Amino acid sequence: MGKRGVQIIRQRFTGSEDLALLAIVKGEKRVNWAKVAKALHERGFPQRTPKSVRNRNLRWRQAQNGVNQQQKNFCRKCGRPQRGHVCEVIEVVTPPAEAEP
Ligand SMILES: [Zn+2]
Repeated sequence: MGKRGVQIIRQRFTGSEDLALLAIVKGEKRVNWAKVAKALHERGFPQRTPKSVRNRNLRWRQAQNGVNQQQKNFCRKCGRPQRGHVCEVIEVVTPPAEAEP
């Protein structure tokens, strides 16, 4: 017995597929991923497994919530990636009030 059956080719999600996926999911209160996968296929997108559609949506939502990650990995001053970063934003430092002796 060899490996037989329907082979699902892993194709990258395109922007329009993402949008279609969002549009389908948006109206659903309880998402049936098998239905979503079918709906995507009916719209002319590649046939995917419910799992891959679900994962895709999950990743997408995580990317949308990337604000928290940004604060961690990006410079707070200029917003550039922190790794190997030399900040070009000149900080305005208020000199401390001179202490009187
Ligand atoms: Zn910076």
